[in-house]
Amino acid sequence: MRILMVASEANPFAKTGGLADVASGLSKALAGLGHEVTLALPYYRKTIKPNLAGEPVGKLIIPVGEKRVEAEIRSTTLPGSQVRVLLIDQPSYFDRAGLYLEKGHDYADNAERFSFFSRAVLEAARFLDLQPDIVHANDWQTGLIPALLASEYRLQPWFQKTASVFTIHNMAFQGRFPWWDYKHSGLRWDLFNWRQLEYYGELNMLKAGIAMSEIVNTVSPTYAREICQPEFGYGLDPSLLARGDALCGILNGVDTTEWNPATDAALAQRYTLDTVKEGKAACKAALQREVGLPQKPDSMLLGVVSRLTDQKGLGLIAARAAELFRADIQFICLGAGELKYENWLQELKNQFPNKVASVVGFNEALAHRIEAGIDAFLMPSQFEPCGLNQMYSLAYGSPPIVSNVGGLADSVVDCTPESMGNRTGNGFKFTQYTSEAFLACVWKAVGVFQHDKPTWNRLIKNGMSRDWSWAHSAADYVRIYDSARSRVR
Ligand code: ADP
Repeated sequence: MRILMVASEANPFAKTGGLADVASGLSKALAGLGHEVTLALPYYRKTIKPNLAGEPVGKLIIPVGEKRVEAEIRSTTLPGSQVRVLLIDQPSYFDRAGLYLEKGHDYADNAERFSFFSRAVLEAARFLDLQPDIVHANDWQTGLIPALLASEYRLQPWFQKTASVFTIHNMAFQGRFPWWDYKHSGLRWDLFNWRQLEYYGELNMLKAGIAMSEIVNTVSPTYAREICQPEFGYGLDPSLLARGDALCGILNGVDTTEWNPATDAALAQRYTLDTVKEGKAACKAALQREVGLPQKPDSMLLGVVSRLTDQKGLGLIAARAAELFRADIQFICLGAGELKYENWLQELKNQFPNKVASVVGFNEALAHRIEAGIDAFLMPSQFEPCGLNQMYSLAYGSPPIVSNVGGLADSVVDCTPESMGNRTGNGFKFTQYTSEAFLACVWKAVGVFQHDKPTWNRLIKNGMSRDWSWAHSAADYVRIYDSARSRVR
């Protein structure tokens, strides 16, 4: 199958969150299954390293509303794979400090930037004669692509048999813009209606992808069910319900070429299931040294790697920190985001200098060392479409402590006598979203860590021995691609 994967970020080109890991990990896995995969991204000049920038292969003129804007297409490959990468270059849109925002403010022309990108990708596909069977668009930045395909491009011979799949990575980010931004899309105005691209008088690019794709999916089965309810649907639950059986959930995988403790070059010591005890002990000592915590092998070291936002449940940790850190517990948090949480981390460090360490910023290598060096990972998210860090934690032998939502519900199996008996238990989950339930869940994990090493070791083993790679999920994507194609024949 010829697959054109379109995303606004992908590893190692540009990354702000899980989407980047998924875009590259899934593309590689699909190519590994023998499919011809092309990945299209904006060319962020300030972010993409020169050795990844490829070569120009052509220039196109893209209509953006009444403007005509040049797009230079650059071609390269995704490192370590057969995946071709197309970078869409237009400096006035993408040569900026941030991908979507700067200093906490979204770029005012985001609708124009991603309208341009969406059309440029389809024009580039035609120019390069790619004739994709599937265009796989991701998140609001590419939500116009299914609409462009359905209403314009499929009328052309190059795209007659091209079907679209749209993946939602987070309902909270919808790409909502004033109605007058719709003109940048160049789409017919009759599509600007409440069933398709319009939402309470505004343009909603996520809704465009949901309404206009052949198949829409999200990144875990539980989140696929949750977003059909008002609590998680962020206003688009009716649009999702309207898609019926064209909506499904596929759990993300782990890119095991990047996240594998047996081969991870960032670690002080690499390890496998057989060497996890010594390996993790060495990684823990090295991490404690690196972040300035006392080197106490028996103190339970909890970790967080996260965007610092309400979604990730930092409020629950903050609410119970004073009680938690009275126990023999250490805590390391790596993250960037809202100022209130950056300040909170600083205060926590001042209050518990020997127990709390934090690093504000984005640091890929340290994220790997944290996954390996901690004893348990905290992820008490309010909602979690899939979540990757809990799966990295499982693969690295660091049982996650999580809320029972979305992809966390689908990947973490709570430690109970039954789940330990059938060897599926791999972490700790709480269901009621209160700080009491969170704290009780952490105390349960601390109790097992401190007093029941056989169970703790079994949790590690259960987590590490499950296959978290993309193998299963990539096969599931092929199934939905087939189903999408059957809808345009
Ligand atoms: P989300 O996409 O909602 O941010 P995910 O768990 O799906 O959450 O993916 C987050 C990805 O971003 C993971 O690969 C995680 O390791 C990475 N990440 C988040 N914050 C940081 C940070 N400050 N430094 C390094 N990596 C980070």
